[in-house]
Amino acid sequence: MIRMKKILVANWKMHKTRREALSFLAALQEPERLSLKIAAPYTLIAELVDACHGREVEIGAQNMHEAASGAYTGEISLGMLRDVGAKFVLIGHSERRHLFKESEEEIQAKVERAVVEGFPLILCVGETEEEKTQGETEEVLKRQLLSALEELSVEQLEKVLIAYEPVWAIGTGKNAIPSDVNNTHRSIRDILFQSLGAAPPILYGGSVSVENISDFLRFEHIAGALVGGASLEVSNVNQMIQKIEFLEV
Ligand code: PEP
Repeated sequence: MIRMKKILVANWKMHKTRREALSFLAALQEPERLSLKIAAPYTLIAELVDACHGREVEIGAQNMHEAASGAYTGEISLGMLRDVGAKFVLIGHSERRHLFKESEEEIQAKVERAVVEGFPLILCVGETEEEKTQGETEEVLKRQLLSALEELSVEQLEKVLIAYEPVWAIGTGKNAIPSDVNNTHRSIRDILFQSLGAAPPILYGGSVSVENISDFLRFEHIAGALVGGASLEVSNVNQMIQKIEFLEV
């Protein structure tokens, strides 16, 4: 049986200078049986793309503006990302939704821009602690997923990955229970199959570490991990690569 490659996405958030990023790459182990991506700060993308030439690492961005160009001081367009060699973009990360008050309309517009331009994207969704306590997880996920993806064809969905990231687990050290995450991923698949006729691979994010990554990725419906804090140290990422490469699934 051919094993689907698991996916590891490092989200560096607002960390690293060019020198730090290049020394990370110099020490990074080459992945063989997994797909490795780094969502880098804008200032690092061009240099990382050059440094990764011929390597099995894809460099992408953490955000973008939905307009093709225009008077949007301080923003970055998809054309600019493509120009520096970015290969994917995160859309709707919980820090964008909650700290920067990004609305579902904006997220939908960003998804539409990426899809129109045929650019791969990772849509992040997830419930807050309060929504979880109120038993609203499934309803919240359905709303976030469908408001962003409802208009997409099965073919367009091929350029999409989903990251399920419960807000209460991001950067908090609080771990979701892997079997619960697997069940939530199954529900996401069902929602997407019913509404859109297909479901992209679903990654999990939220305090994933060297210690717990295998506990999540051994599950059938967990296609990979989106890792923030623990991805800043190259030794951690190398250990995660090792663990995923030798995972029996
Ligand atoms: C993230 O940035 O998407 C994330 C999951 O962060 P952390 O791994 O630090 O919880």
